[in-house]
Amino acid sequence: MRHIAIIGSGPAGYYTAEAAQKRWEDDVRIDIFDMLPVPYGLIRFGVAPDHQSIKGVSRRYEKTALSDNVRFVGNVCVGRDVTIPELQQLYDAVVLATGAPNDRPLGIPGEELGNVFGSAAFVGWYNGHPQFADLGPDLSGRHAVVIGMGNVALDVARILAKTDAEFEGADIVAHALDALRASHLQTITIVGRRGPHQIMMTPKELGELAHLERASPRVDRDDLPDEADDALLEPGLRKSVAHLRSFAAIPESVHADKPIEIAFDMFASPHELIGTDEDGAKVRTIRLERTRVEAGRAIGTGEFYDVPADLVVSCIGYRTSPIADVPFDERAGCFANDEGRILPGIYCVGWARRGPSGTIGTNRPDGFGVVEKIAEDIDNGALGRPDKPGRAGFDTLASERALDIVTFRDWKKIEEAEEAAAREGAPREKFVDIAAMIKARG
Ligand code: NAP
Repeated sequence: MRHIAIIGSGPAGYYTAEAAQKRWEDDVRIDIFDMLPVPYGLIRFGVAPDHQSIKGVSRRYEKTALSDNVRFVGNVCVGRDVTIPELQQLYDAVVLATGAPNDRPLGIPGEELGNVFGSAAFVGWYNGHPQFADLGPDLSGRHAVVIGMGNVALDVARILAKTDAEFEGADIVAHALDALRASHLQTITIVGRRGPHQIMMTPKELGELAHLERASPRVDRDDLPDEADDALLEPGLRKSVAHLRSFAAIPESVHADKPIEIAFDMFASPHELIGTDEDGAKVRTIRLERTRVEAGRAIGTGEFYDVPADLVVSCIGYRTSPIADVPFDERAGCFANDEGRILPGIYCVGWARRGPSGTIGTNRPDGFGVVEKIAEDIDNGALGRPDKPGRAGFDTLASERALDIVTFRDWKKIEEAEEAAAREGAPREKFVDIAAMIKARG
């Protein structure tokens, strides 16, 4: 029997468990750890609350979770409650599927001002992550600036722009919905340091901006390259650029009918965030530097201009949290690894392996890939004999340390309570603090 500990119960974790089950069938036992009492990581806390069809993939993970040789071990923080070397004593393989939960800093003056947030914090806030439930962004200003031209920037801009009615069927948490209801935003500026041909936004998600009830997207025609050049783009990007072209063609009468404008400000690099004296430490303005793109890189032109910014959300990517005793690649912001192998016996997968890129589905081949690495190490003898204690050993350690483990059965009770508390039309009202989650399991 082989024992595998997977750290992190998001998509990468569950796909790894699925792959290990397929590979070793009844000859493997898998424990999936999560520091929170609730599973699914990015699906619960990252995927936008109005994208419920994407969240539906958790049903597939539930099937894995309910099989006999897989167990959910919630409310256990690896690195605090139990160390990696301790897990290595207990399990043949430890797989880090911890994602990339930290914001990459912008690295410009004024980043520390009030009402400036990274997307991990801001998305975590509207998705009810316990760490960010008290973020308290001030949405009373008129101008929001969203930095970055990826799908997270799109999520944030769309969530800021939606009406109450447009959240029907969404599991946005009550504190965020209340704040958005009271918002006075008139402009949401999406800032990109490069141009239309370098956006990371995918067509389906970008197209959604054209169908918002009270907001219309605006693109400056002068920012668009020659249409003939679009032919050279890969098909997905070509479709996204076609959306930008259609946004540029939206007549002024349509903009005039909508109280919120989502303006794309491309060829613009964040230079400084500036607050005002009256508001003390709160942001009021973003200073941008005009850029031009040369050989795919944004080059500053030395021309600066200011855009009003009462709220700033930077959506420029994420970093993995380092864990004691595990080699970390500071430059890449993820664990140092060779195709998922950190060292024989310790592996990483998903964003913790390759950084924050790709769709949820990208993690499936990743999971299967890392299981192949484990299999290679078993076959070449690097993991020793199959005599590790596995979950029985962990249970002894957990009881010695009085860890309060949340099981998958407990999670189902928490889920039931969240579903019972849902406002009309919503799938659930999430608990946003750990104590409430634990209480709900009964
Ligand atoms: P992303 O796609 O890598 O986009 C990051 C953006 O930030 C890029 O436009 C990048 O510009 C910009 N940026 C980076 N550093 C910057 C800086 N210092 N100043 C200004 N701009 C900067 O990352 P993401 O939006 O965080 O998304 C992460 C992954 O999750 C992606 O694979 C995404 O597709 C996926 N995702 C998917 C969905 C969905 O399918 N619905 C939703 C959310 C996220 P440069 O290109 O110039 O570096």
